[in-house]
Amino acid sequence: MYNEELKKLNISAKAYELTLKLESELREIFCGIEETECINQAKVLNAFQQNRVAAYCFMPTTGYGYDDLGRDTLDKVFADALGAEAAVVSPHIVSGTHAIFLALSGLLGINESMLSVSGHPYDTLTEAIGIENPAAGSLKEYGIEYSEIELNDDASFNIPEIKKRLAETKPRIVYVQRSRGYAWREAITLDNMKSAFDAVKRVSPDSIIVVDNCYGEFTDTAEPLAAGADIIAGSLIKNIGGGLAPTGGYYAGKREYVDRISNRLTVPGIGRETGSYFGSYLPFYQGLFLAPHTVAQSLKSAALFAKAFEFSGLPSMPESIAKRSDIVQAVCFGDKERLIKFCQGIQAVSPVDGFVIPEPWAMPGYNDEVIMAAGTFVQGASAELTADAPVCKPYIAYVQGALTYSHGKIAVMRFLSDTLK
Ligand SMILES: *Cc1c(COP(=O)(O)O)cnc(C)c1O
Repeated sequence: MYNEELKKLNISAKAYELTLKLESELREIFCGIEETECINQAKVLNAFQQNRVAAYCFMPTTGYGYDDLGRDTLDKVFADALGAEAAVVSPHIVSGTHAIFLALSGLLGINESMLSVSGHPYDTLTEAIGIENPAAGSLKEYGIEYSEIELNDDASFNIPEIKKRLAETKPRIVYVQRSRGYAWREAITLDNMKSAFDAVKRVSPDSIIVVDNCYGEFTDTAEPLAAGADIIAGSLIKNIGGGLAPTGGYYAGKREYVDRISNRLTVPGIGRETGSYFGSYLPFYQGLFLAPHTVAQSLKSAALFAKAFEFSGLPSMPESIAKRSDIVQAVCFGDKERLIKFCQGIQAVSPVDGFVIPEPWAMPGYNDEVIMAAGTFVQGASAELTADAPVCKPYIAYVQGALTYSHGKIAVMRFLSDTLK
């Protein structure tokens, strides 16, 4: 029932009624999301039990952190939850970009090559790889040759071209970005990955397949490793931190490769033997336990946003009824002011900094100015309800996250209130 509390958030009765109607059309989609959630919850629970997680695993440690049981157990729990031989999950990995860059720089030797088969990588990686404006210490400085192949228009892989280039160059790394990033394209499904990865392994069996898994974890009942990837990497302040992990990233996959990357995380020959954390490990464990649920909340919110955008006649992606492979909903406003207003509306229904008005700014690592609505508990955490956009034509915003579906729904109601006037 429409209520005073909604009115205080500038939500109109009309927007409320409309949202209920749109929501009722999503029943089947929500059932599918809940089924995936249940399977992932069981998988996470089994990972906790098999690794005998106990209260002493949460204890802080100091100094070198030799025999840090909390750290070692957390790695094992993550590995099992992701279907990996081994995983490293650490507050010392500062972001998703750091996790991905560690994987690349840990696996690539001098003068080796890397082929991206999903087009241009995420913005924050271009200077690090050295595709544009190579930063000091970029992969390019180490003689790493980078090349890329675009995805097809439907976000499937261009397999004939991939086979041809692999046969010619035999790259050390074949790289895939699962989520859409700041591109107007769909996220890549595990089925599409499977057929491409089978082809990669046939033509170039020594190539290592690395997947940027940011925003993808737990959106499906398996991770890209099950489709044949060798290494996946991602951020803890997105899906898999469950909204509780205060910082961090992870990489996971074949043990041999995970160990090699760990020599880059710390020191060759020392790897994962050291590293303490004087904060408690509790939020990392509890966050992982909650992640199947928070991801489901995000997926439902994204589907409802898609419905509202479709109703409003705005081009948006994916479709409300689509099966998703990331938690992101993209919407094209075609107009700078409407884009900025939308992001400001998201900020206005945020629990933290709800009183501030976000403006575009030159964020480190991004080419265009970016506007970010992130009224989050954990700074910049997009497991929480957030919207961000590079401020350039055609003015596309990316909205994602929501720790609770009700919060996502409130944001949809607020958007409809603002636009139905
Ligand atoms: C967020 C994101 C990254 C980078 O993660 P940060 O934690 O922001 O550094 C990389 N790739 C994709 C697809 C992302 O969405």
